[in-house]
Amino acid sequence: MKAWEKNIRKVVPYVPGEQPNQPDMIKLNTNENPYPPAPGVVDAIKSFDTDRLRLYPDPTAKILVDALAAEYGLKPENIFVGVGSDDVLAMIYLTFFNSDKPIFFPDITYSFYDVWADEFRVPYEVQPLNDDFTINKSDYYKENGGVIFPNPNAPTGIIMELSEIEDIIQANPDVIVVVDEAYIDFGGVSALPLIEKYDNLIVVQTFSKSRSLAGMRIGYAMAQPKLIRYMNDVKYSFNSYTMNQLTLAAGAAALADRAYFDETRNKIIATRERTKKELAALGFVFGDSKSNFIFASHPKVSAEELMGALREQNIYVRHFTHPERIRNYLRISIGTDAEMDALIAFLKNYLA
Ligand code: PMP
Repeated sequence: MKAWEKNIRKVVPYVPGEQPNQPDMIKLNTNENPYPPAPGVVDAIKSFDTDRLRLYPDPTAKILVDALAAEYGLKPENIFVGVGSDDVLAMIYLTFFNSDKPIFFPDITYSFYDVWADEFRVPYEVQPLNDDFTINKSDYYKENGGVIFPNPNAPTGIIMELSEIEDIIQANPDVIVVVDEAYIDFGGVSALPLIEKYDNLIVVQTFSKSRSLAGMRIGYAMAQPKLIRYMNDVKYSFNSYTMNQLTLAAGAAALADRAYFDETRNKIIATRERTKKELAALGFVFGDSKSNFIFASHPKVSAEELMGALREQNIYVRHFTHPERIRNYLRISIGTDAEMDALIAFLKNYLA
């Protein structure tokens, strides 16, 4: 081993879901939205003045921040934007998770949380979900260096009541509590109204799911101005220009079309509820997902086998091998009605 190798920041990276690009594939493995972005997004991109690309983008991302502030009835000072919520969450870790005490998150959750902890040398302690995959709020009452969990949780899709989230925030006045609401628009109740009351709460959302812009990479945090200022200080010490000009224009345009947003998310919710009935009829067991995916297990056929069989049909779903107790589950994103019909038709036949 070379001497310099001792000083490498070694990390075991997060493994994103695969991005196959096959004709006729049914891609239900990375919780993308099956519907295209709002028509206004297409117009904004087509009419974009490419000469402006000579110039650096606005480091304050004003057009996007202002549009988000208007959308949520907040002030621009309440909003931080980043390159997908992954970037926003990484900035939150860097800014706020610097204690010697461990940060807490569930044992079954977004598999990036422990990766950032390792990367930034943040101690952490996972809190096991209950057997029904719900979060036990009192696990988060112990002394810690910060708390983060998704609501609804991923990959389970299970939501936590707002009153329970508030209990966790109240029990942790000395640390930052992050509620990762990547999937909140599919039927959950957002913790956003609580940011006025609690100076230690950060709510994180994304354009990747409910706004059909995973490929654009836009995420945002909402919190009291002091927290946002601290995050911006860290961001400007890292990369001032995280949001490029085209992204800013597309993001603002997506927010301008509330009717399209409501129409597509309502379609996804309706398709999810129908898919639940069909999967239950086939013997699958799953929790009551309020996200754009269903985390399901079949008592007779292993998740691994099912995933392989689906793949042969060009149907992609996600399978996690860790932790052990979710090994027999598949995470199935909600696609169009036609895509879910094809999935169900195949499963019916396969399980018969
Ligand atoms: N949080 C959770 C819980 C997620 O599942 C994802 C999607 N992988 C993200 C954050 C990150 O999403 P994005 O960076 O596309 O906003």
